[in-house]
Amino acid sequence: MEDLSKEGKGKKLDILDQWLKQTLNIGKTEQFERKAEPDHKQAFSPNGAAGQPEQKNGQTQRQPQSSQPARQPKQGQGQQGQQPGQPNQRQQHHRNSRPHSGPNFGGKFKGGKARDRRPRFKGGDNAFNQRHKFQSALSRAVNAEPGQVKYDPRGKLRIIPIGGLDEVGKNTMIFEYEDSIMLVDLGFHFPEADMLGVDYVIPDINYLKDKLHKIKGIVITHGHLDHIGGIPYLLEKLGNPPIYAGKLTMGLIKKQLEERGLLQSANLRAVNYSSDVLNLGKMKVSFYRITHSIPDACGLLIETPAGKVVHTGDFKIDLSPAGGQLPPEFAKIAALGESNVTLMLSDSTNATKPGYTVSEKKIGQTLDSIIKDTSGRLIIASFSSQIGRIQQIIDAAGKYGKKVFLSGRSLIDNSVMAAELGYLKYPQGLIADIKKAKKHPPEKTIILTTGSQGEPVAALSRMALKEHPHVEIGNGDTVVLSSSPIPGNETAVIRVTNNLVRLGARVINNNIMDVHASGHGQQEDLKLMFSLVKPKYFAPIHGEYFMRKAHAELMIHELGHAEERTIMIDNGDVLEMVNGEVKATGEKVQTSYILVDGMGGGDIGSQVMMDRQILAENGVIVLSMPIDPNTRKLNGDIDVETRGFIYMEESKEIINGICQKAAQAYREFADRNPNFNFEEAKLHIRSSVDQYVVSKIDRQPLIIPILVD
Ligand SMILES: [Zn+2]
Ligand SMILES: [Zn+2]
Repeated sequence: MEDLSKEGKGKKLDILDQWLKQTLNIGKTEQFERKAEPDHKQAFSPNGAAGQPEQKNGQTQRQPQSSQPARQPKQGQGQQGQQPGQPNQRQQHHRNSRPHSGPNFGGKFKGGKARDRRPRFKGGDNAFNQRHKFQSALSRAVNAEPGQVKYDPRGKLRIIPIGGLDEVGKNTMIFEYEDSIMLVDLGFHFPEADMLGVDYVIPDINYLKDKLHKIKGIVITHGHLDHIGGIPYLLEKLGNPPIYAGKLTMGLIKKQLEERGLLQSANLRAVNYSSDVLNLGKMKVSFYRITHSIPDACGLLIETPAGKVVHTGDFKIDLSPAGGQLPPEFAKIAALGESNVTLMLSDSTNATKPGYTVSEKKIGQTLDSIIKDTSGRLIIASFSSQIGRIQQIIDAAGKYGKKVFLSGRSLIDNSVMAAELGYLKYPQGLIADIKKAKKHPPEKTIILTTGSQGEPVAALSRMALKEHPHVEIGNGDTVVLSSSPIPGNETAVIRVTNNLVRLGARVINNNIMDVHASGHGQQEDLKLMFSLVKPKYFAPIHGEYFMRKAHAELMIHELGHAEERTIMIDNGDVLEMVNGEVKATGEKVQTSYILVDGMGGGDIGSQVMMDRQILAENGVIVLSMPIDPNTRKLNGDIDVETRGFIYMEESKEIINGICQKAAQAYREFADRNPNFNFEEAKLHIRSSVDQYVVSKIDRQPLIIPILVD
């Protein structure tokens, strides 16, 4: 990277080296040869693509070449004299000797049904492969010379996050080049505590309202709801553009669409990360596989004639991911580092946490020992999208002759789908219906459930409240909370834990044993990713402001990235890329809160929200005012009802005052406006009663005057 001095490079090398030693537990790196792997470059086309993207808009192109390295290259096997575009001997060997694997690592999930055919990444074999791959990544990162890149000086790429910054949730980003637009992710956000009765918050797509015809597609990085949850609410409003996603991600999107009856009309295109390149106008999108807390996550390379963007999606660096998933594609990521990436947008969720993220394998080992040693019934609560962890639990259950009973709809749905798509594997009879759990010997019973966040309607909460139809918690039960509370859910999790312990259960959470690892990279993961990609500009995304700021400072202070090329942006800010340079334009796109309430599908307005807040905080006063239909005069006493306001018996004086104020306000208004309408009269009554209540007791309840005849 241009801005790094020699010392900077040395420092980076140190960091990589340290990481290598710590993570892989090896002492020496010199013994591995350094060589380039032209086959990756070829398929991933990090070089030279700028300016000449294919013209097939919206088409998925299958690249002829594999982008994958062989798992175990033999010493000295030919790299020299290869023409780009020709499969090298290593690949040939790989293809010939591993007919079931195919060129794509991901393809192995398709392998036979027998459990033992799932790829295992144990011991030296894995370490070797990783070392090898990483070594080549390392050599690229250190030795690469910046190449000459030609940009189209007239080209302009606009990048606009409309969600996912200033929050953890509703990740959505707009990429606009000339007359083409694509979106990366379309998530939703669970509401804040003060958004009463609101189910979801979805991104504001106002900016796209008059540009629907330009939208070429929505590219999804992985299947978490903060990346796909907005799809069912917004897909039609966006004019039903094609959705591009990996196989499992697509399965989860389909489920979302199906629930709202939108599956038939949707235009869904499953992507193969190894071979597919999308041409969305002049934006060209290719993929690299990355590890996260759900299988099938990817990062993106977006190439345009104005420059290149790497969007990391959510990620952590996990060399031993759970349940037969594959580690990150370091070779591809490192190849990016020598291809002059203009801008990297990177996940900041765990940027305040030092060190490395714990590997899923470590969690699997802890769970394995808990499953082995627990003599009573075991209840494990986790996220229903944690397919890898579910696989590890199922594997351990099989090993110790225990049976797994699933409780919770999303868990059952996701497990069935993941099994159908080959992401979850288990022998017949190992998983059973929760209804049969009661009759099974407790020491052989594992109940896998949702509700690890204390969600009141989820299965675990119902168990804790003795409301679950099939599970009664008691002495001898062990409950494992294999998750950590998402900020905002802490109180709910404590409540559920209290109830479980009260019923006699032993509760194991992440403070007691390593039963959960985050899916978001901590500082060392983030530094590694940055060092591999070596972007010219950097903008932290995904997370609250303090997380993104920590991410920026980490890269500036620890990796020596230039401060003037580190850009802090918020939701609605516009980044512009021209001629390989990036700047924030200062323009601000509308990103208001769009609240979704229930299944009605309609968004609720801010007035409804304000009413709910007033109701909750100050209560309500309903005034029934009898009106003579002929004279339109007050015709009798005003009836007052209050809820959550004040205790009426003790505040007769105030209630009387309210009645007098309301009557007076009505008369005044009627006298002043002979042709008044009732709605205007109500407004007048409301404001004068409001003033009176504030003056008397300094509170602002919701006031509802009703005029009855
Ligand atoms: Zn995620
Ligand atoms: Zn996310």
